[in-house]
Parts: sequence; C-alpha cells; structure tokens
Amino acid sequence: MAGSSEGVGEKGLPQILERRCILQSEALYQYILETSVYPREPEVLKELRQLTATDHRQVPAIRFWNAMATSPDEMQFLSMLLKLMNAKKTLEVGVYTGYSLLATALSLPHDGEIIAIDINRKNFELGLPFFEKAGVAHKVDFREGRALPILDDLMTKEEKYKGWFDFVFVDADKSNYMNYHNRVVEMVRVGGIIGYDNTLWNGSVVAKAMAERPFPYYIMECRDAILEFNAYLAADPRVEICHVSIADGLTLCRRLN
Ligand code: SAM
Ligand code: CA
Repeated sequence: MAGSSEGVGEKGLPQILERRCILQSEALYQYILETSVYPREPEVLKELRQLTATDHRQVPAIRFWNAMATSPDEMQFLSMLLKLMNAKKTLEVGVYTGYSLLATALSLPHDGEIIAIDINRKNFELGLPFFEKAGVAHKVDFREGRALPILDDLMTKEEKYKGWFDFVFVDADKSNYMNYHNRVVEMVRVGGIIGYDNTLWNGSVVAKAMAERPFPYYIMECRDAILEFNAYLAADPRVEICHVSIADGLTLCRRLN
C-alpha cells in the first residue's frame, strides 16, 4: 500500500504491485508446486522425474542430473498450451531423459507426431520405458545427432517439414538459439508456436559488472548469446513474442507470416 514500508515505485504504485512477475520467494514456488502442480502431474511423468533425479547411469555423469530437466510447472503450462492449440505435430531440440518430451507426447492426440533431436541417445533410452508404459512411444521419432545439421536436413532433403509443425520446443545448446530460430521459424506453420527455454539464463541476463557475475562458467559462457538472442527476437518481425517469467524464462514466439 502507498506509504507502507514497501514504498512507492517508479510508476507511482506501491512497489509490491509494480514487482508483479518473478516469484518473490522459494516458499511461494513450493506452494505452487504442492498445491497445483504435483497433485495434477501424471504418475508416469512423476516417475520419470524421480528417475532423472536419482539414476546414476546418465551421461555425462554430472552431479545435479535433474537440474537439466524442464520443471513440472513449466510443462504443466506448455501441456495446456499444446491442448489449446490442438497441436498434432511437434519438434523438440534437446531431449535429455525426456521429461518435456513425455509431457508433450501425453498432450498430443493418438496420431500425434514428434521429431525429437539430441546428441545423446543414452539418456533418452533411460526415459523410454516411461513412454512405452504411457502408450505414447509410437508418437516419437528420435534423431540422434547435432541439431543444426539435422534441422538443415529436415528443411532441405525432407522439404515437407517447411511450415509443418504446430509447436517447436528448443532446449539445447543455448549459444545456437539464433541459428535454431532461423531454421525452425520456417518449419513451424503460420500461427504455430516456438518455445525457447532458459531465456533468463539463471538471472545472468541482468548481471552488469564483473562484480555482479557470481555465476559459474557454463552460465557466463552463453550469457552474451542469450542477451543477443533476446534482443533479436524482440525485433524479429516474423514472430509475435511473449517472454514468460516461468522457471528460467520461456520465450514463446507465434509465427506471423
Ligand atoms: N528438454 C529436456 C528435459 O525436459 O528434460 C532437457 C534438455 S537438456 C537442458 C539439453 C539437452 O541438449 C541435453 O540432453 C544435451 O545432450 C542436448 N544437446 C546439447 N547440445 C546439443 C546439440 N548441439 N544438438 C542436439 N542436442 C544437444
Ligand atoms: Ca531447459
């Protein structure tokens, strides 16, 4: 309230009302998860999430395995979007053990089709039994390899993929987001959606001086690419955008023409 200890912000509103996007506490996030996400998360997705958090067979052997998986609240949001769009054909770049892929497969109709790309098939194979258990494995066409040449192949050799996808989810190799965009923007249909994950990149996008950069090397390595990409999307006349402050930032692009 104006005049309270929160003070008045730049727009003349109480600061508490001006700061209305990024969650204000970990407890608030836990509240969302426990109240609205976990009780609704399909059992098979929960099982895959738990395996991803604990299974030691993943490659490369990293300490915080599940940190790579898309968060369940973000996939709850994207699952609803996919259903609202009546999406049937999707493309995913960056599969890992398949949490976002399984949530997508569960959201498409029985004859839905997903092309899923990752340089590493082993992690996907850890998750594959959950796709089989859920009866959605037939929707997934997994292609192992680097995404750029595979996308180029899809666009040239397999011309049919131009303007073919209803939805594309990009969640790999952040330094190549611009290159991915310039390909997938032609592969999604007019009116279709592309989602780019991690576009707030751990908050590093607002770190200015070196002193303000308490981020690990792998974050700083891609920070400039993410900054450049966010600015590029904001000015790209081919798409309408929405920078959603969920998880680590999700930029949705709707193809205009
Ligand atoms: N969407 C996944 C999920 O919800 O679990 C997480 C994907 S994880 C953040 C990124 C994935 O991108 C990793 O599995 C990695 O192997 C893959 N990757 C990295 N560079 C790649 C590239 N150049 N081409 C294809 N996949 C790549
Ligand atoms: Ca991600």
